[in-house]
Amino acid sequence: NEDPRIHGIASSIRVVPNFPKPGIMFQDITTLLLDPQAFKNTVDLFVERYKGKNISVVAGIEARGFIFGPPIALEIGAKFVPLRKPRKLPGEVISEEYVLEYGRDCLEMHIGAVQQGDRALVVDDLVATGGTLCAAINLLERVGADVVECACVIGLPELKSALDG
Ligand code: AMP
Repeated sequence: NEDPRIHGIASSIRVVPNFPKPGIMFQDITTLLLDPQAFKNTVDLFVERYKGKNISVVAGIEARGFIFGPPIALEIGAKFVPLRKPRKLPGEVISEEYVLEYGRDCLEMHIGAVQQGDRALVVDDLVATGGTLCAAINLLERVGADVVECACVIGLPELKSALDG
């Protein structure tokens, strides 16, 4: 009983083997964006899930969370807050480091953009290990927001998720 729109969305995503390095099956959502019906269906499915849930902030993860997050935020009447890679935001920020398969990375958020009591939805294109989403959740919780859910277009079920632990 899967939504009939899912098939069209899934088949619009291009899989590029060995990009950006050997062994990675890169899920390329730029081909989804070329299909206006698939793009609209993607946004609509999230809007249908989150409308009326009292979400006050959509936090999008750089860079592909900046594509899917804003149309969802506009439709559900929430503010949009970008969670950015280091040294991109001009104002005062809080930072959250996280560990990648090789090395570490960091997300930053403007102080004051999200307040105590905000109800947050985190948006990204894809969840693999869940490390990036965990860093986003930590940032939002550190400023007192309640993270209602994380919304990703693609899940990679073959990978063990950090969210299990
Ligand atoms: P993770 O933190 O392991 O859940 O990785 C998720 C982040 O890495 C997301 O921001 C994705 O855009 C990116 N990412 C990881 N694996 C892939 C993949 N196979 N194809 C496209 N993007 C990926």
